[in-house]
Amino acid sequence: MLGPPGAGKGTQAERLARSRSLPKISTGDILREAVQAGTDLGLVAKATMEAGNLVSDDVMIGIVRERLDRDDAQRGFVLDGFPRTVVQATALDGMVDGHGPLVVLDIVVPEDVLVRRLATRRICSRCGVNAAVEWTGDCQKCGGPLIARIDDGVEIVRERLKVYQRQTKPLVDYYSTRSTFRSIDGNQPPDTVTARLNGVLGEICGSAT
Ligand SMILES: [Zn+2]
Repeated sequence: MLGPPGAGKGTQAERLARSRSLPKISTGDILREAVQAGTDLGLVAKATMEAGNLVSDDVMIGIVRERLDRDDAQRGFVLDGFPRTVVQATALDGMVDGHGPLVVLDIVVPEDVLVRRLATRRICSRCGVNAAVEWTGDCQKCGGPLIARIDDGVEIVRERLKVYQRQTKPLVDYYSTRSTFRSIDGNQPPDTVTARLNGVLGEICGSAT
């Protein structure tokens, strides 16, 4: 699944994974867990992110390859946060070669709507997960209290969106001519987006069983 920060991609990926009994593979979650557990990967990722850099293609590809090799991903999977670059996309094509189809769903939301959503976004103060819009109480992952993201000022949000567009435009170009690529209007209520995503998946690979 592709989509800018604030498009609701994480929530939608989670719903698709649940309704189809597939693992949701989020590179953000994997990195966060590795950092918390202090593994070799976690140490590399932490140092990289603290220096303000993006985790390298090689590291990200390694993480995903290892995850997709596990038993629970053999029937299929929902990927969230990967690929982010054309190099990663090319590697992913290699990983799923012969196991397809690789369905690419791009959730599109106008910038002004994203800015509004992101500027009011909350995260869990305990586990760091982004709170879904519909979470009214505590974190639904760990029960921790939700707090406003302090870095989400409007200027910072606009800059992050610009970075996202710059990085992922080539990715959309890479996929957009494929018959398994779809753009989805993400400026609708979450349930409507979910229904649309399910409809598209049904067209391409059959309905959920
Ligand atoms: Zn939490």
